[in-house]
Amino acid sequence: MPGRGEYYKQKYGGGRGGRGGGRGGRGGLDNHHQESFQESYVSQPSQSDTKPNTSSNAATQDSLVRLLRRIDGQSYNAYKDLYREQSWRFPQFSLHVTRVQSDAFAPPSCFRVYVPAADAKFPRDFSTSQIRRVALADYLHRNFHANCRSNRYDYKEASGGWSGSKGGDISVVQPCQHVMERTAVVVHPNGDVEARFTVGLPARGRTIMGEMASQVLTENVSHMVRETLLYGAYSNESKDEMKQHILSVEDQDSLRAKLKEKGLVAFVCNGATLPRMTGDSDKPLVEAGDDKVVTFQSPKDMEVSFDLPNRKVVGMGIPAGITILVGGGFHGKSTLLNALQIGIYNHIPGDGREFVVTENSAVKIRSEDGRSVQSVDISPFISNLPYGKDTKSFSTTNASGSTSQAANVMEYLEMGCTTLLIDEDTSATNFMMRDERMQMLVSDECEPITPFSYRVRELREAGVSCIIVIGGSGQYFGIADHVLMANSYRYTVVTDKAKDIAKMFEEREKLEPTKKKSKKTNLHWTDRKSKVRVSDERWVADRHGYLRSKDSPELDLSLVEQLVDIGQTKFIGNLFENKLMGKLNETTKNMKDMGEEMDKQMDEKGIDVFNHQQVGTLVRPRRYEILAAINRDRSTPFTQTK
Ligand code: ADP
Ligand code: MG
Repeated sequence: MPGRGEYYKQKYGGGRGGRGGGRGGRGGLDNHHQESFQESYVSQPSQSDTKPNTSSNAATQDSLVRLLRRIDGQSYNAYKDLYREQSWRFPQFSLHVTRVQSDAFAPPSCFRVYVPAADAKFPRDFSTSQIRRVALADYLHRNFHANCRSNRYDYKEASGGWSGSKGGDISVVQPCQHVMERTAVVVHPNGDVEARFTVGLPARGRTIMGEMASQVLTENVSHMVRETLLYGAYSNESKDEMKQHILSVEDQDSLRAKLKEKGLVAFVCNGATLPRMTGDSDKPLVEAGDDKVVTFQSPKDMEVSFDLPNRKVVGMGIPAGITILVGGGFHGKSTLLNALQIGIYNHIPGDGREFVVTENSAVKIRSEDGRSVQSVDISPFISNLPYGKDTKSFSTTNASGSTSQAANVMEYLEMGCTTLLIDEDTSATNFMMRDERMQMLVSDECEPITPFSYRVRELREAGVSCIIVIGGSGQYFGIADHVLMANSYRYTVVTDKAKDIAKMFEEREKLEPTKKKSKKTNLHWTDRKSKVRVSDERWVADRHGYLRSKDSPELDLSLVEQLVDIGQTKFIGNLFENKLMGKLNETTKNMKDMGEEMDKQMDEKGIDVFNHQQVGTLVRPRRYEILAAINRDRSTPFTQTK
């Protein structure tokens, strides 16, 4: 039976993305992407050598101009002459070519600029810690990108079909609401700044437009560098904004690290703006007409404050343990949970969710029917499947709602995650609960599923916290440590009342779901080892969370909700081509270990250790999302290790 990917490929002839509903749909491979499968990297720099040659014997800017004039009017292939010199010295930076496209219709060529600290001149304390460097790089990236657009350097010639002119555009990847470690702009520990971008090398038909290429590569690029990558280019006002940007990100990071000290798993700052502009925009909702925006206010009994390096914040602390969020439909439950699941990332000032943070390992658990599951022990939730199908090492190419959700829980526990975020909107009902009436009709012996509510206490005993949105059932009242109620986007604590109600029902029906059931197994999980298939095959990511290659089954990550930027999906695709990944297959003992090792490498050496093509399009995902992708990959074999 084909996987879902195969189905879509057959149906639409070429891997069209997505399931029905908002996120799927228009994700087919366009020409551009298809070509990139064929594109081979002509000169691949070695993995260890990401720092360019900045020595004085590099060619100069004039030499680049001469080269481009010389090849003007020649056939497109002559652009490959750029490889001969590879880098050029400009007054305050050097320009390097990473990849030259093979024709005008191929994906654009990759370049980077390197600005030594002595020329960039950012204050030393802007790059003293890893988080400050990431924040500074993010600020510079936003300006580098904006400068390219406002000068229309991203304008692409595209006139008159095959024989017309094309290319000439500079492209810098687009930033998002979060401040993440990217390969677009990197600030090195010594204060050097590096920026990556692509250029569509211009041609008329197949004939090189050398003058135009020279204008783009020397003047336009220089202009962008001089206006955005040098500290001196910024006004005093912008310098202050830059500093605030860095300090805000530093504070968010520090807040996340301090949650544990106070026994919390999440924090929502008073005054935060949680709702987003529209279902498909990540920008904050703004007040318009009758639509009011209610800023967040903590219930008094949950209010805590934090002294951060650069400010003090006050808001709601969500303690470790079991917290449920109840309330009527459309009262803001999912909006709060969405802000929490994205609270693993730092946000830009003005986003509204800057100080809504969740502990580092918090994961969203949802149902994901159709996903591939391999050798996962889901027996704590599912046993006695029809025809004796094994659930201690459960594999399927097409999971159901409940089995996919069970696999998601078990896989994240295996990775060491200690906070689970669950929304009724995206859960399988039979996984979440089972009521007494149904038990009377369908006996326990006939029901393979042990609902999540039965396991919640064991999870807590194992040190795993849960934040669960559940407006449709009171079954969690008895087991929750805290019950929060949403009412018109305002939140109150109703734990005592919920407990009283739970007690009343227990006495009346002498039934308490958590005690009543004697299930054979205890909560436990197994480690597995995966062997990721690493090859030269190119992987292409689309905006809907799909990764595709020519020869492997497509990888659907559209429901891994904490992947929020296409650059993260690209990063994962890149791993399947990366030799270092092949090495990790050999040197790590299980998946958890593999994830930890990846983080360690990136913490020590930066995200570029996994950027063997030196592209500017990658964004660092958490290890949980990387492992989630491996878990869903249909061509990776898995074995249980204990
Ligand atoms: P629920 O999950 O409780 O059914 P949602 O969280 O999906 O409700 O929110 C319903 C709607 O209310 C959404 O359109 C959301 O953008 C809007 N909303 C949520 N929180 C606020 C707020 N604080 N102020 C204004 N609108 C909000
Ligand atoms: Mg909801």
